[in-house]
Amino acid sequence: MNNCLFCKIIAGEIPCKKLYEDDDILAFFDIKPAAPVHFLVVPKKHINNLLELDSQDSLLAGRLLYRASELAKEQGCGEKGGRFIINAKSDGGQTVDHLHIHFIGGRSLRPKLASIFLG
Ligand code: 5GP
Ligand code: ZN
Repeated sequence: MNNCLFCKIIAGEIPCKKLYEDDDILAFFDIKPAAPVHFLVVPKKHINNLLELDSQDSLLAGRLLYRASELAKEQGCGEKGGRFIINAKSDGGQTVDHLHIHFIGGRSLRPKLASIFLG
């Protein structure tokens, strides 16, 4: 039995504020936003983290990045930008073990704030 939080969100067992969905990808707003725009882009296939991609996942990984880029623009962050973050495993501060790209934007992320994310 898969006890993964994001797999449960993908399966619709836990609600989310959905931004985008196709056969392979789901994007939804983070429950604890770090900025006015904070969403997550995840593969529907369970992959633990970026260190556990296999060669068949490379196209999917590219599609995740592309979708994050498109959604960031749709959210009004195309001009000023924002931060794309992928945490991996314990030293990376990953708390949900299902690969996800964060996008954080809508305000200026200064170095002091960066240190929260980058250690
Ligand atoms: P990580 O620390 O693993 O890179 O990021 C996990 C993110 O998932 C955190 O930013 C956290 O706020 C978010 N998160 C945790 N539980 C939930 C949830 O139930 N729903 C949503 N939408 N986001 C969640
Ligand atoms: Zn999962």
